[in-house]
Amino acid sequence: MSTVIAVTNQKGGVGKTTTAINVAYYLAKSGHTTLLIDFDPQGNATSGLGVDKQSLSVTMADVVMGTHALSDAILATEHKNLSLAPSTPTLANTEVELAQAEHRFTRLKLAIERLAQEYEYIIIDSPPSLSLLTVNGLIAARYVLLPVQAEFYALEGLGQLLETMKLIRKNLNPTIDLIGVLPTMVDSRTSLSTQVLAEISKHFPAKVFKTNIPRNVRLAEAPSHGAPIGVYDRWSKGARAYKAVTKEVIERVG
Ligand code: ATP
Ligand code: MG
Repeated sequence: MSTVIAVTNQKGGVGKTTTAINVAYYLAKSGHTTLLIDFDPQGNATSGLGVDKQSLSVTMADVVMGTHALSDAILATEHKNLSLAPSTPTLANTEVELAQAEHRFTRLKLAIERLAQEYEYIIIDSPPSLSLLTVNGLIAARYVLLPVQAEFYALEGLGQLLETMKLIRKNLNPTIDLIGVLPTMVDSRTSLSTQVLAEISKHFPAKVFKTNIPRNVRLAEAPSHGAPIGVYDRWSKGARAYKAVTKEVIERVG
């Protein structure tokens, strides 16, 4: 069975997509067959891997609407062991249509269950909201990976996410678990970053990854080259951090 990990935080711009792309890349690079599901209408994980959104015939919107199987949407990437299920802004319309539909919470879970090809890891990139799409991701996932930006408002709103996870655990997905909290865009030279890191550790004892992700301009540049950081600049600080955190993910999955 695949290990499904949803990268989730309803706050925008905290590093979800950067984390999803680069953890998926390093999982694949270390020999694990990996599928990255772009489940955000912004389609940032799709363009971040260099896929032209105009060129797509089948996307996650079709999968969610039930007109195509997930396997129809999946594209091979130029990176060994890494496949992508892409999204475009159409997914936002789909979400509206889905609001009244049957099985609206379990569309993604069912689509993954029907996959004939077996992936060792499936990484889901979620949108910045606690929307129906995010809930679909949480119901499909065994684990939640929570990136938290090292800034003053970092912990605000997380209570709501944890509450949603609790409800989902009780009703729809009893095995959902937090695999880890990943501090992102950390600037160790500032006392604010250090303070926020301490705060995050206090809130999530034992859940914070040993590795945190530094603020690194190479990580911000890589998507415009359509490349994971491990290809764009494998020796950068950002690359080394994502490689290390992927190792921790593998250890935690066990
Ligand atoms: P959204 O909520 O809109 O989906 P997100 O949580 O997926 O956003 P990203 O898109 O990964 O966040 O990151 C937001 C911006 O910050 C992007 O421009 C990205 O390139 C940049 N960024 C992410 N991580 C880092 C980092 N460690 N150092 C520098 N820039 C970063
Ligand atoms: Mg994103």
